[in-house]
Amino acid sequence: AGESYDVVVIGTGGAGLSAAIAAYDKGLTNVVLLEKMGVNGGNTNYSSSGMNASETKFQKEQGIEDSNDLFAQETLDGGHNTGDPELVKFMCDNSAGAIDWLDGLGVTLDNITLTGGMSVKRCHRPTDGSAVGLTLVPGLVAAVEERNIPIKMNCEAKELVKDGDAVTGVKVKFEGKETVLGAKAVILATGGLGSNPDMVVQYRPDLKGYVTTNQPGATGDGYTMAESVGAELVQMDQIQIHPTVEQESSTLIAEGVRGGGAILVNSEGKRFFDEMSTRDKVSAAELEQPGGFAWCTFDQQVYDANKAIAKYDKSGLVQKGASVAELAAAIDVDPATLQATIDAYNAITTSGATDEFGRTEGCIAFADGNMYAIKVAPGIHHEMGGVKINEKNEALDASGNPIPGLYAAGEVTGGIHGNNRIGGNAVCDITVFGKNVGEVVAEALA
Ligand code: ADP
Repeated sequence: AGESYDVVVIGTGGAGLSAAIAAYDKGLTNVVLLEKMGVNGGNTNYSSSGMNASETKFQKEQGIEDSNDLFAQETLDGGHNTGDPELVKFMCDNSAGAIDWLDGLGVTLDNITLTGGMSVKRCHRPTDGSAVGLTLVPGLVAAVEERNIPIKMNCEAKELVKDGDAVTGVKVKFEGKETVLGAKAVILATGGLGSNPDMVVQYRPDLKGYVTTNQPGATGDGYTMAESVGAELVQMDQIQIHPTVEQESSTLIAEGVRGGGAILVNSEGKRFFDEMSTRDKVSAAELEQPGGFAWCTFDQQVYDANKAIAKYDKSGLVQKGASVAELAAAIDVDPATLQATIDAYNAITTSGATDEFGRTEGCIAFADGNMYAIKVAPGIHHEMGGVKINEKNEALDASGNPIPGLYAAGEVTGGIHGNNRIGGNAVCDITVFGKNVGEVVAEALA
């Protein structure tokens, strides 16, 4: 017989890494992680906003009042009440526990900010305010290595193997050969489909030709594998587009840039929408502007507060000037119009004026001096639909019955975000449900 494990975890993004660690720590030491790419971390590497969580020790220390119910309500509202209320409640109720769990693993997310669609600071970032993925992935990988959990790199899961109704293994392509790894349980943590244009168009013909923020391995393999053993896929047409993607490089410009005070102006130098509104609405508003793009515009304070911006700048994505007029010249908009736009925005904070576009969050007046802008437009970002699961992360068939031996966590699952995901909720989803599925499987096999 070939290799066999208690648990095979497919995918080394945040969900898969969390699952393997949690299973191991509950006593299930015969775990293996599979990763089809040559790098760990999947799209989690790119996650920039942070991790939304409520009633956390860090919020309490910083005097931020929040509740799990408010978090759940705002998540459901953000998804226009199309998310699964039970899964949302489970995620929010367990979010503070996940923040503590990560902290215990050395991943400390105590720098708290706002993203679009939340009324209190709930988005937890690394202490230095840098992009969360670049702290989370190495932290989780280190925890995996400490436990000597093997990771098979460049190992692609091709098919789930069944014995009767139960999933009992995974057929993989590894080192040029196809082999079967036996498993008492398989956890799908394969992420999304943004780098599979055919699959995107299959579910959403209108997204033909969109750039994607996803890593090349995000080709939707998990959906195909799950479906082939009878798992139900829900809300697959809910593919989130992100409003601030630099189009030449497909770089996602972090939502924290707007949360820290940046505005979006069109090619005429005018604001057109509440920048802190949900991603679907901001994207739609952008597409209505001349040329279908916007300039994400900010001052030196925003530049300094968000570590990612220096990286965008190094990559040549940031236009700049020593004054509003100089920036206006650099991005070819009328300087007087841009100045008037900034003055009107500043008035919201300095004289308490009501914003004509309804922005109330993250309104921070521009200071004089250096000004910056990044050209952005919408891009494919996140598959919000996916494998239907319950609170035990069991993959369910169309009648709602668990498929024995098959579990799923992370972006590959569907129903949590409904038709619009709040920035910062994916990291909460993958961590809470990744940890949960590891624990559930350990318990089931005990
Ligand atoms: P999540 O945020 O849900 O953890 P990620 O996108 O961060 O999702 O990670 C998913 C990981 O799964 C990626 O590293 C991706 O390359 C990997 N993956 C996807 N399909 C397969 C497959 N068929 N076999 C092995 N690994 C896969």
